[in-house]
Amino acid sequence: MKTYPVYLNGELTITEKTFEVSNPAKGEVFARISQVDREMVAQAMQNAHAAFRLWRNVPGKKRGELLRQLANEVHRRRDELARLITLENGKPLSQSEGEVTMTVDHLTWFAEEARRGYGRLVPNQVEGKRHLVVKTPIGVVGAISPWNFPLVLAVRKIAPALAAGCTVILKPASKTPLCAAVFAECVDAVKLPKGVFQLVTGSASEIGKEFLKNPLCRKITFTGSTEVGKKLIEGAAKQVKPLSLELGGHAPVLVFEDAELEQAVEGTILAKFRNTGQSCIAANRIYVQRPIYESFLKQLVEKARALKVGDGIDPRSQIGALIDEEAMAKAAEHVEDALRGGARLLCGGQRLPGPGYFFEPTVLADAPNGALCMQEETFAPIAPVCTFDTEAEAIERANNSPFGLSAYAFTRDLSRMFRLVENLEAGIIGINDGLPTATQAPFGGVKQSGWGRELGIEGMDGFLETKHISIGVS
Ligand code: NAP
Repeated sequence: MKTYPVYLNGELTITEKTFEVSNPAKGEVFARISQVDREMVAQAMQNAHAAFRLWRNVPGKKRGELLRQLANEVHRRRDELARLITLENGKPLSQSEGEVTMTVDHLTWFAEEARRGYGRLVPNQVEGKRHLVVKTPIGVVGAISPWNFPLVLAVRKIAPALAAGCTVILKPASKTPLCAAVFAECVDAVKLPKGVFQLVTGSASEIGKEFLKNPLCRKITFTGSTEVGKKLIEGAAKQVKPLSLELGGHAPVLVFEDAELEQAVEGTILAKFRNTGQSCIAANRIYVQRPIYESFLKQLVEKARALKVGDGIDPRSQIGALIDEEAMAKAAEHVEDALRGGARLLCGGQRLPGPGYFFEPTVLADAPNGALCMQEETFAPIAPVCTFDTEAEAIERANNSPFGLSAYAFTRDLSRMFRLVENLEAGIIGINDGLPTATQAPFGGVKQSGWGRELGIEGMDGFLETKHISIGVS
C-alpha cells in the first residue's frame, strides 16, 4: 500500500507516523499518508516565515510565471489527480475531472492576478501632501481545507496567497489528504522556492492550535463547517488574527410559475445532486410556486430516478458514495424526520447495500418547514420540496436561515430577477443557473456562511494588507 508524503521546507517527506485513507465506495483503506506533530508544524512556520522574506520580494510577474508552470504541471497529472479524488472522496470521475480542470483555471487566473496587486494615488486634499495606498502581502498563511472538493478548495486559497506574495502551510482534511500530497509533488516539480508552500497533515486541533497561537502565522484561511469556523473565531480573538471563513450553507431554490420549467428542473438537479449533494452551495430546500408544483415534481422525480448511482470510478456513475457512515446516518435521519413531519416520499429514501456508502437520490414532497432538512445542511442527495404562493413569501422563507452562502431562483421576469438579487441574503445567487461558480467571480457567504471572498479580482484581497503612505512634499 502506497504511503504519501507531506511537504516540509522543499522536501517531500515520509514521516515515521502515518495514517490510513479509505475509499468510501468500498469502505476500505487503500493508502496511507505521513503525519506531522505540533513541533513539525512550528518548524514549518519558521521555514515559511524565512521563505516569506524572499518570496514577498519576487516580482509579481515572476511569481505568476511559477504559478503558470504549476498549473501546467497539475494539468499534466490531471488523470492521476482526478482518479485519486474519486478514490478518496467517492465522487464520480467526470466530476473529479471537472474539479481538476477548475483547479488549473484557478492557478492560471491567479498567475495573471499576481502582477496586479495594485495600490493607488489618492488626489491630495491639502497643499504639501501626497497620499499613496500600497498593498503588501500579509505574511505566512495557515490554510485549512475540507474533504468535499479536496483539491480545488485548497488551491482556491493557495493560488491567491502565493500570487499576493504570501507563503502557505496547507492542512487538508484527514479523509482526503492524498490529492494535496500530489499537488505538493507538482509544487516540488516546478521548483517553487523551499518553504513557500508546505503541506502538513494530522491532528486538526493540534495543527489548528499552532496556526492560532504561533505569532508567525499572520492569517488563517479556512473552508469547512460553521461549527469549526466558530472555534477558530474564538481562538483567533487572542491575537486578533485575521480569518477568512468559507463555512456551511443551506441554499434555497425558488421556482416561480413563470420559470422555463425544464430549465428549472435541470438547474435544480444540478444544484442538488452534483457532488452527491455534498457541496456547500448544494440546493438544500426547494420552494415551488403552487400552480406549477405538481408538474415540477413530476419532472424532478423522473430525472432523479434516472440518475445512476455507483462507484465513482465507473464512468457511468452520476451519484457517487457519501463520504462515510456518519454522512449516511445523517441522510437517513433527515429523510425519516421529514416523513414523520408529513412529507411524501416520491423516490429514493434508502441507503443501498454495501460495501460503500451509497444513498438513493431522494425527492420529498410537502416537506414541512420545521423538518431538519429544511433547517440544517443535509449534505446528501435528498431534495425536499414544498410550495409557496407569493414572491414576498418566497423571499422571506429563503432568508429565514442563519446561513447565506448561495441561493437559486428560476424565473423569466427581469424585474423579479433584480428584486431577488437585491433582497436574497446570499453571497452567490444563481438565476436560471444551477452552477453559479466561476473563477473570475467572487465566491463566499453572508451571515453564518462566512467572512471574505475567494476567487475573482477579490480573491487576493484577503492576503494583502492595505497601507496608507502620507508624503510631505514642498
Ligand atoms: P470540518 O469538519 O469543519 O473540517 C474542515 C477542515 O477543518 C478539515 O481539514 C478538518 O480537519 C479541519 N478541522 C476540524 N476541526 C478543527 C479544529 N478544531 N481546528 C482547526 N481545523 C479543524 O468540515 P468538513 O466536514 O470537512 O466539510 C464540510 C463543511 O464544509 C460543510 O459545512 C460545508 O458546507 C463546508 N464547506 C464550505 C464551503 C464554502 O466555500 N463556504 C466549501 C466547501 C465546504 P480533519 O479533517 O483532520 O478533521
